[in-house]
Amino acid sequence: MMGFHVDTIQLDAWLIEQQKYYDIYAPKVFVGGNTFSDVDCIRYGKISSISEVVFDRKSEYSFKEVLTPISQTLFFFTEDQCKEAVPPERGAIIFMRSCDIHALKRLDDMYLTNGPADYYYKRLRDNIKIVLMGCKQSFENCFCVSMGSNVSNAYDMCINAAEGNYEIDCRDAQWKEFFLKEGCDRHLVVADHVDENPTVVKIPDDLTADVARASLWEQYNKRCISCGRCNFVCPTCTCFTMQDLYYSENAKVGERRRVWASCMVDGFTDVAGGGSYRKKNGERMRFKVLHKVLDYKQRNGYHMCVGCGRCDDICPEYISFSHCVNKLEEAMKEVSK
Ligand code: SF4
Ligand code: SF4
Repeated sequence: MMGFHVDTIQLDAWLIEQQKYYDIYAPKVFVGGNTFSDVDCIRYGKISSISEVVFDRKSEYSFKEVLTPISQTLFFFTEDQCKEAVPPERGAIIFMRSCDIHALKRLDDMYLTNGPADYYYKRLRDNIKIVLMGCKQSFENCFCVSMGSNVSNAYDMCINAAEGNYEIDCRDAQWKEFFLKEGCDRHLVVADHVDENPTVVKIPDDLTADVARASLWEQYNKRCISCGRCNFVCPTCTCFTMQDLYYSENAKVGERRRVWASCMVDGFTDVAGGGSYRKKNGERMRFKVLHKVLDYKQRNGYHMCVGCGRCDDICPEYISFSHCVNKLEEAMKEVSK
């Protein structure tokens, strides 16, 4: 694609212009923001300068925090009235890697087409623009090539970053006009992407739900501590729970929030009447893995997992999702005997 060579000053000028209309989100460093003291965290936050964007490392949490906030107030209520929470006044520009753009497609499946469109998701989704961050190299635990998410063309602009110099491909006509006016050099630009990852995942062609009977899952009963971190970092996990908060000044007034939930933690499957399902951690692991690489595809035609590797990065017990998937072939042989 015919794009531009731009420098930091030109990109910052573009960001300043866009901030008039959009909030701009990208992976950035939160100093001391990690679980462990004095350790930084890379996650999504608002940016105002291109120098804030972390291009050379993977974000621990994904873009989904922007579209599906960890805790989102849907409406406020009194005894006899209900008032919808005010939506963001402006749209959003989100910097995303190719795997995350593929994950966005999965979020759209679940929030927009898996039944009636979710009103709160849609009103945010209708007002976003996407900036693809080119990947110069594969990061630890990534297996995007195996999952076919290493390349994406679904962007409004792509950026390849190299030490203060940037190549961009603009598909948004107004943004293209901006860089033309800035006098940026025209240049042929192809989004950086990887063609191989050190981690390779093979999902067996003959995988069926029979694999649920394999002994593989039992090892996770002890290894997994059901902390749910793998779900929270996953860009394709969308489960939430509802919470009604009543204000202490007046117990008849409050707000309804939806809050992220995790299929790996206690209580997720509790139902009326005292029922509870998948009590063992191995059963929860089985449910999560097979949802990501088996039953979602049966409905949508492609796997839910996009191979970002964040679940492997974050697990405090060093449980590897990709290793587990690679054991499915043996597990299928076991149950087929
Ligand atoms: S697999 Fe790891 S991150 Fe996920 S719930 Fe179990 S211990 Fe936590
Ligand atoms: S299951 Fe793991 S590797 Fe797959 S999309 Fe979720 S976090 Fe990424």
